[in-house]
Amino acid sequence: MDAPQDDQALRKILAARAVSTGRGTIGDSILIVDGKVAAIGTLKDFDGSGIAVARYDATIIPGLRDAHTHPVAYTALLAGCSLKNATDMKDLQRRLVTFAKTLSDGQPVVATRLDDESLAERRLPTRIDLDAAIPDRPVVVYRYCGHVAVANTAALHASDVTSDTQAPSGGSIDYDPAGHPTGVLRETAMGLIPPAFAWSGNPDEASLLSALVGLAGLGITSIGAMIGHGEDPTERRELELWRGVAARLPIKVHGIASVETTTRLEEAASVLSDAGPRLSWLGLKRFADGSLGGHTAAMHAPFADDPSMGILRLSEVDTNLARRSIELGGMVAIHAIGDRAVDGVLDVFEELIAEGADPRDLRMEHVSVISPTQIRRFAELGVTAVVQPAFLASESEWVARRVGGDRVPWLYPFRSLLSFDAPVAGSSDCPVEPPQALWGMAAAMDRYGIAPDERLTGTEVLAMFTSGAARALREPEPLAIGSPADIAVIDAEPATASASQIRDAQVLDTYVDGVSVNVDRGLSVWPD
Ligand SMILES: [Zn+2]
Repeated sequence: MDAPQDDQALRKILAARAVSTGRGTIGDSILIVDGKVAAIGTLKDFDGSGIAVARYDATIIPGLRDAHTHPVAYTALLAGCSLKNATDMKDLQRRLVTFAKTLSDGQPVVATRLDDESLAERRLPTRIDLDAAIPDRPVVVYRYCGHVAVANTAALHASDVTSDTQAPSGGSIDYDPAGHPTGVLRETAMGLIPPAFAWSGNPDEASLLSALVGLAGLGITSIGAMIGHGEDPTERRELELWRGVAARLPIKVHGIASVETTTRLEEAASVLSDAGPRLSWLGLKRFADGSLGGHTAAMHAPFADDPSMGILRLSEVDTNLARRSIELGGMVAIHAIGDRAVDGVLDVFEELIAEGADPRDLRMEHVSVISPTQIRRFAELGVTAVVQPAFLASESEWVARRVGGDRVPWLYPFRSLLSFDAPVAGSSDCPVEPPQALWGMAAAMDRYGIAPDERLTGTEVLAMFTSGAARALREPEPLAIGSPADIAVIDAEPATASASQIRDAQVLDTYVDGVSVNVDRGLSVWPD
């Protein structure tokens, strides 16, 4: 039993009920040679070839691509304190106390996935609420959007935030009527918190690799990974982690560096480019605004439930970093949620294109609120919208109240974007949302009552999470002849399945470069 083992790794046939892509059904079998797609057809086309056949009573689809994730934060979340579904302030406090008992003495308590809209009190906690649970060491809780944090008194102290502190530009600090900080820090003001308080626990190489294997089990074969690389030594841990795991990655990781300076951008580009075969440097990540949940998305008109118009963070620094990324051969990804941020980023992109940038290298992340006029401009520029349909499910309870009825049709208008031929890439923004790409696909088909005319078909959402995302990750067209055999096998047929069938579909197998990823199905992929 010597040669066949090697031969099977080099040449194999996958046969199923159908091979379905975002371009429609293209056969029922795939011939893989050397980790690449050599031919697609029906099983009888390959008859008599003598090559081993793996048969599935299921559908073969291209491996799912998630164009925007935060894998290290996700890894930390799997091991850390989640406030998801906390019912009220008492429940939140109890979770913090329980988690603190698992840490060593004095270690800061960091919790994530706070959703004030789901608390009975319907407000953010204050430092007083957090002090009541844990008075003797720093506590920081992050809203699930990642744009608002609440610090207790000890953490404010460690952050040097006092009644006299001036918020950095692009951020704000909440004060009580007596002029004392409430603990709530928004946008760039979160940067006042020491970087050591970004995560509890310590994501290590083994837990990061295990998290990525978990993603493979969800049918995901490539991700766009946001990688922070900052000034403080603890903010450089992420890049080190990636360097450490680069030779052992189960899926393809395209690193997008979130940096403040060109020096850090150059470092990230060089480390990620040279580290390993499945790791690459894709480009730069910047922020134009905040979130709808935190009232920090930059809007042209005030929120319907708040007189503010959010916070526009875009500046000359962003344009200069973007230019450097393009010079280095990278892409530019800028976060824009509100319609004012969308225009701001389109202005930057227009300038970069005028200077010679390829529109395909320019990605706008989220694109949550975009008017019909803006969609036209977006499509004319030919830049890519990297969207997270799962936001529809999470925000359905409150988002209409926040933007107001007139602007509801402008929320995540995927069908309108496609009808103007704007390139659209699917993603999760995990851990803002769960990592299941199939759930995101189902959300774009269902829409949970938000602008239902913008619903997509199963084939369209499959295209969004395969071809569309691949393009945003600079990968070749999935399941084209000669493309890497990155494949998922699922027990649903996207072309005919309902949203709930897509959501509930099981992933039976995942292949990366033609080899099945060995996934422990008991692996946790999301905290309860
Ligand atoms: Zn993100």
